[in-house]
Parts: sequence; structure tokens; C-alpha cells
Amino acid sequence: MTSEGPRVERVGLCARCQHVKLIHTDRGSIFYQCSRAATDPTYPRYPVLPMLECRGFEEKERALEKR
Ligand code: SF4
Repeated sequence: MTSEGPRVERVGLCARCQHVKLIHTDRGSIFYQCSRAATDPTYPRYPVLPMLECRGFEEKERALEKR
């Protein structure tokens, strides 16, 4: 059993995307920051979750296969 299930449901695509950066705050909150936003203003810096559809989504594991 894994704890990934509920997180993926709550966060959507960003939870599995190679372009996400997790920001942990001192108060224990976690923010999901999209690194694509740094070079493309059409992406939200902090996506509204759950992200159900995104043209920039790239699965983390697929990104590793390309290398
Ligand atoms: S590209 Fe889309 S799915 Fe990936 S982190 Fe950014 S907003 Fe989330």
C-alpha cells in the first residue's frame, strides 16, 4: 500500500509531473510550483489544484527514460 493515491487525487497531474517543484513552508504547508512558469507566462506559477488537464504535463518516469 502506498500513500501516493490520496495525494495524486488531491493534486492531480502536478503530483506526477517532472516540471513541479515542491515548496515546503515553516508552518508545514506544501505548495506545488510549476517550473514552466519561469519561462512561459501562460503557465501558472502556483497551479490551482487538482490540475486535471495540462498541455505541459510530462510524466516524471517518462522524462527519465528519454535521458
Ligand atoms: S506543467 Fe502542468 S502539470 Fe506540470 S507542474 Fe506545470 S502546471 Fe503542473
